[in-house]
Amino acid sequence: MSRSPTSLWDSLLERSQLLGQDISKTEYFLMLSQWVLDHSDDIGAEAIKIYGLRRLCELPPDLYAIDHADVDVQGEIAALEHVKPTSRDVLAMILRDQLWDLVAFRSQILCPNCGQEDLRILSTGDCGLILACDRCIWSQDDHGVQYKGTRVGKPATAADLESKGHLSRSAHVSGSGRKR
Ligand SMILES: [Zn+2]
Repeated sequence: MSRSPTSLWDSLLERSQLLGQDISKTEYFLMLSQWVLDHSDDIGAEAIKIYGLRRLCELPPDLYAIDHADVDVQGEIAALEHVKPTSRDVLAMILRDQLWDLVAFRSQILCPNCGQEDLRILSTGDCGLILACDRCIWSQDDHGVQYKGTRVGKPATAADLESKGHLSRSAHVSGSGRKR
């Protein structure tokens, strides 16, 4: 018998409370993705599929610039306590948003179409990068020209970002929370 969304959420809160005060963003990503994989039967195949959760959870964290994400881990953990998802759909959507915020690097380029969000840097799969908006359908290439190809939802890897000079700025600003 599958658990209620409330009981599932409590289990995620318990897991997040086991994390220390100084965990890195990568460690937070690992906790969330492991929790999703451990509870995928309870979350339900349909919600997992709709929100692309398995694909996100199976991304190897060391290949992505997660520690450069513009995310305050302790703030996110504190915020989890204030949301009480009442459906599996909402629960899956919150997890998707959290994972996506960590793994999909945000540029400092405001979407020229809706003007609401900074564009995320995604990979086209053939070493090319596009910048895409989370809020509207806009995507563009590195030169700001609208991208007309089929939009892909895969975050750019740290190596891709570095090779195009997107990581150099934040690399010396944040000392990176990575341990070891
Ligand atoms: Zn937009």
